[in-house]
Order: sequence, then structure tokens, then C-alpha cells
Amino acid sequence: MGGWTWGISGAIVALIVAGWASRVLAHRRSVIRELERGLVALGEGRPVRPTNTRVSGSLGRLARTFDALIPEHQAKVERLSSDIEQLRVVLGGMAEGVIAIDARRRLLFANKSADFLFGLGPQAVGRLVPELIRSPRFQEAVDATLTGPETYRGEIVVPSRDVMPRSLPRVLAVHGSLLPGSPPTGAVLVFHDVTELRRLERMRQDFVANVSHELKTPLASIKAYTETLLDWALHDEAVNVRFLNRIEEQADRLNQLILDLLSLARLESGHEVFHHGPLAVSAVVETCIETHVGRAEGKELDLKLDLGPVDESILVVADEEAVHQILDNLIDNAIKYTPAGGWVHVICQTTEAAVVVAVADSGIGIPRDDLPRVFERFYRVDKARSREMGGTGLGLSIVKHLIQSIGGEITVDSRLGEGTRFTVLLPRYQTKS
Ligand code: ADP
Repeated sequence: MGGWTWGISGAIVALIVAGWASRVLAHRRSVIRELERGLVALGEGRPVRPTNTRVSGSLGRLARTFDALIPEHQAKVERLSSDIEQLRVVLGGMAEGVIAIDARRRLLFANKSADFLFGLGPQAVGRLVPELIRSPRFQEAVDATLTGPETYRGEIVVPSRDVMPRSLPRVLAVHGSLLPGSPPTGAVLVFHDVTELRRLERMRQDFVANVSHELKTPLASIKAYTETLLDWALHDEAVNVRFLNRIEEQADRLNQLILDLLSLARLESGHEVFHHGPLAVSAVVETCIETHVGRAEGKELDLKLDLGPVDESILVVADEEAVHQILDNLIDNAIKYTPAGGWVHVICQTTEAAVVVAVADSGIGIPRDDLPRVFERFYRVDKARSREMGGTGLGLSIVKHLIQSIGGEITVDSRLGEGTRFTVLLPRYQTKS
């Protein structure tokens, strides 16, 4: 072969080698690009495909290590996503409002309850919290959490977001803690609505104060009369019987108060056992009227009963003792608050679902502003007058509880100086046809 033939063969081999080398290089470059894309996807927590390359050398080893890491990494990402989802469900279902903010007071997260408590919209995340929640007390809690070395505990009052007009402001217990980091990266604040709790606490305190006062008044009278008797009046025939009668009156009052308190306590605790069954209500109304005839006559009151269509065949679903107590209280009040010469009428009617019993009087009446409050414990329009009449201020609240337990209703209408009408609805017993 001549020299030129060797030259041509050499050139061909060189071309083949160059082609092969450039294909290998291109493949290695594509593996590097795939690795780059994979790393970015890993960083963003997106799904990653393995390179499955068979390239040799250090690049091959790197690619195979990368491929081997993918399943483990993806399992971690899935676990993390499911943990985050769980956390979201837990936070979303919490009755407490949870808010997370960054160190610059931008909202990072708010759960559903926090959305509702503070009226945060869907665009709230990322915005400055002082712009979203314009409450100085709220900002104080945020400041104290972000600056204080310890977790913050306090209470704030914020306007109610209830649609009902005149809704009371909400009282929120706040628990604020810093997010980890040095300096801290923000804070988490948890808000627990304690409005109802505080209201009940206030009611309990008022109740204790009222009971103490109501007990002290007759006791003070008993003590004063007894001291006077011991001092000088015991042997004074003109006054000693009068004083002893006063002592008996005050003791009766104390007794009535304690009986009413026990009755109310049993009703409120739900321990009072009633047997709400079919009951002929006419007989109960008649018995109640009979027990009050004497008192009505003594005050020259016209006490009348109109049973209307309610005969012994008309039944309600109620406990006899409960109905008796309700009517007894209402008739007793009507007689108590009607001046001599007036009238007290008990009128019965029926509707398809209820027996309606109205206790009406021509008495002193109740001012309009007091009407919604007469069923509250110890609420009296005229304290002195009620006490003078032997009232405890508990009768109507006992009535309200009894009616609730029966599943009935009670309403009151009144005109000052003209009279009052309490109307009770007792559910009728429906006979199956
Ligand atoms: P009390 O023991 O004071 O009568 P109640 O709970 O029975 O307590 O009634 C609460 C208040 O409602 C009374 O103090 C009285 O001011 C008012 N009230 C109740 N019934 C009547 C009525 N028939 N006429 C006028 N006022 C009434």
C-alpha cells in the first residue's frame, strides 16, 4: 500500500474517534443537565426522575448516588406533606384562634377560628398585622410576645364580630410564644375565647353577693328584735308579742329563701327528677286556685277561673308537681302585686299543640324596661316592696326553669298601673289515632 492509503485510513479513524468522543461528551453534558434539574426539583420538593445513566467515571458515580437518594428523599417529602396536612387539619379544627407572624409583624398563618375572631380575609397572609387587626390591646399582646423573654399570657378585649346588633365585646385569653431562631423569627399567638366563662364568673359572684345580702337582712332583723326583747321588752306585754311575731315572719322569710335556693340549685344542676307524662291540667289549675282563695278574699280580690274548653279529657305532657309550682308562683305573684279591690283571672285555652294558661291581674304592672329581666334570679322591680310582701326574687326564675324542663313557653305582657298577664304554653299530649 502506498503512503497516501495510510493517510486516508488514519483520517477516517481520527474522524470516528472524534465523533465517538463528541457523542460521549454530549451524553455526559445531558447527564449533568439532568442532575442540575433533579437537584432544583429536590430543593423545591417536587417529584424527581432518576437519571438511570450508565456513564462511567466520577460523573457516573455521582449520578448513581443521586439516583439511589431519590426514593428516600421522596418518602421524606411525602411524610412531610402529610404531616403538614395533618397540622393544617388540627389547627383548622381548633376552637382557639392561632396566628403566626414574622419578626416584622407580617401575617404568616391564621387558622379558621382566628379568621373568624378577627375578620381576616383570604388575602390576609403576608400583610402587616397592625393593619389587619386594629386593636391597641392586640398590638400590646404582640409587642409583649416579641420583646418579652418569656411566653406571654394575658387577656384582651376585642369588639364582637357577631352579626347580632349590640353583641358584647369578646374577652380573649392570649398565649404568645416566640418562633425559634436567634434573633427569633417571629411569634405564635393562641387566642381562647373566655367571654362566656367570664360572664358566668360574674354571675356567680353576683349570685353569692345577692344570697349573702338576702340572708343578712332577715337575720339582722331577728337579731335586733331579740336584743330589744332581752334588753327591756320581754316583760312589756304591749310589745313582746308583736316583736315575737316579727321574728317569726323573718324566720319564715329565711326559710322560704332557703327552700327557693335549694329548688333553683336542683333545677339548674339537672338533678331534679320530673316525670313528664300525660296530665289532666284542669285538675291542677283548680287545686291551685283553691289554695289561693283564702288569701284573695283576705285582700278583697276577685279571683276567677275560666277553664274554657279545657276539661279533664285534655291532657298535657308535664309533671304534676312542676305545673303546680308554676301556677302557684304566678297566682301568688298576681295576688301579691294587685292592690285590694282588684281582680286576678286564670284563663285556659287550647291550640292544636298546646294548652294555654294565662294568669292576668289588674295590679301595679311592670315597667316596660324591666319586663325582659323579671325572670332573672333576684331581679325585682321594687326590692323593698317585694321583701315587704315576703318575696325572695327567685319565684319567676324557678318558673322559667320548670317551663324549660317541660318544653313549654312563658311570655309576659304588662302595663304599668293597669295590670300584668303571664301566658304559659304547655305541650299537649297527642293521642295516636
Ligand atoms: P318576688 O319573690 O320578688 O315576687 P319573682 O321572681 O316572683 O320574685 O318576681 C320578680 C319580680 O317581678 C317581682 O319582684 C316583681 O317586681 C315582678 N312581678 C312578678 N309578677 C308580677 C305581677 N303579677 N305584677 C307586677 N309585678 C310582678
